[in-house]
Amino acid sequence: MKLLAVTELLFSPFKIAFLILWFYLCMYLVQRFEFNPLIGGRLKVWTNVLMLFAAPVVLLLAFTYAVFKKVEETGASVAEAAVTTFGHAIRTIKRTALGGARGSSSIILLDPSGKSINEVYGGQSKDDNAKKTVAVAERLIGDAVELLASDILINPAENLEYDIRFRVDGVLSPYREIDSNICGALVNSIKAISGMDISEKRRPQDGAFVAKVPDGTVSFRVASAGILHGEKLSIRILNQKLAPQTLPDVGMDERTCRIVRDVLNRESGMMLLCGPTGSGKSTTLYAMLREIDFYTRNVITIEDPVEYVLTGASQIEVNPKADITFAKALRSILRQDPDIICVGEIRDEETASISLKASQTGHLVLATLHSSSNSASLVRLMDLGISPLLMASGLDLVISQRLVRKLCNNCKKVARLDGPHKQAFLQKNIDPVSIYVPVGCNKCSDTGYKGRIAVFDIMVIDNEVKNKISEGKITIAGSTKDDQQMRSNLQKQAMKLAVAGITSLDEVKKVTSQG
Ligand SMILES: [Zn+2]
Repeated sequence: MKLLAVTELLFSPFKIAFLILWFYLCMYLVQRFEFNPLIGGRLKVWTNVLMLFAAPVVLLLAFTYAVFKKVEETGASVAEAAVTTFGHAIRTIKRTALGGARGSSSIILLDPSGKSINEVYGGQSKDDNAKKTVAVAERLIGDAVELLASDILINPAENLEYDIRFRVDGVLSPYREIDSNICGALVNSIKAISGMDISEKRRPQDGAFVAKVPDGTVSFRVASAGILHGEKLSIRILNQKLAPQTLPDVGMDERTCRIVRDVLNRESGMMLLCGPTGSGKSTTLYAMLREIDFYTRNVITIEDPVEYVLTGASQIEVNPKADITFAKALRSILRQDPDIICVGEIRDEETASISLKASQTGHLVLATLHSSSNSASLVRLMDLGISPLLMASGLDLVISQRLVRKLCNNCKKVARLDGPHKQAFLQKNIDPVSIYVPVGCNKCSDTGYKGRIAVFDIMVIDNEVKNKISEGKITIAGSTKDDQQMRSNLQKQAMKLAVAGITSLDEVKKVTSQG
């Protein structure tokens, strides 16, 4: 009987739950302190030992302190303060929980030669300011990676203040405030890690660095320029994890996928991808390249810059300083007789004409062009001096695209359409029950959107179109009409996504206003 009582006590579910919670809190705090850049090497051992045994006690003390501080500051009751403080603590733990920890706690910044930020910016010295700056830089970069931002913009404003913004899903939003005393030093630390000259503040400079995070490496491109109130930095984040894997991932429907794959399987020809800046052309291009077997076909890309590493392909980066332009790189790779050539962007006549000629001499060419629509692309090529005949014989497929933001699945809610609005949908045989509106939650940084998806308009250059092009029947006037047609095509695609609850009606409207 007595033995039974002991085992009952040992395996009491409450006790086990308590032990698990205790253990979890210990491990959580050990991890938080281990990666905290503000705690020095020798202190670290002792904080670890303390946390390993007494983390929950330390947490309780910190919690009590926070509650009373809140009571004193806001005059709320102890119970109210306890509830809000507890909620805040739970959110913090959720954000940085074991295993999922990113942010400043476990990020290592390295310059192009592999030196850490502490080595190049003096964080190892006894200078507390340098240490604090390094910690802020690490937190800034860590937050950007965690939010899947594509750019960080640091602009000087008046009175020595700085304006820091992240671009997430194509939309800029302000980053939390950073102590204005430290901003100048922050810019210097990022310039140092990017291999730039810190003392040069006016002349534009380029640099790069990488960040090691728990699930891989992220590359950063940095550009600096002196402007009115100081120096601005634009940081481009090249996150390998953001690369979509397949054509359906980027938003292609079955029919478009089939047509694109058909062209990708050809020995020669040319596919042109069009859209304004920020319409996701390069992302689609990478998705197309992923369809290709690099072991049986020799693939060479020319990019500005190389955004994702494609194992098995040869990637060349344009570098005007070293006199490597799209046209020059293209000429030199044609001598290596590749099967597939990917031209990051056609900007000039030479690149356009070499690309089109290559497509007729046994190469498959994939290229992007900055233009507003399929027919506008053809007009643009003519403007660049390409003869209609060369265009007609070289091109196989022209695709235009735009991006729409996807609603956050965690917080979107069904749209309440008013009577006439609802009627309009029902008349088109669309049931508007699955149309959603954005709300905003902590998973989408209160924007209501998470991620983006592309909509496409494709133009297959068949014999009929070829005739039209070679007879010179593609004109600016014709293009305006086609332009409207294309806009409605893109809008139709976007509307399909809205009816499926993937995007919102606001985003559908935006498609027509872009470029
Ligand atoms: Zn959300």
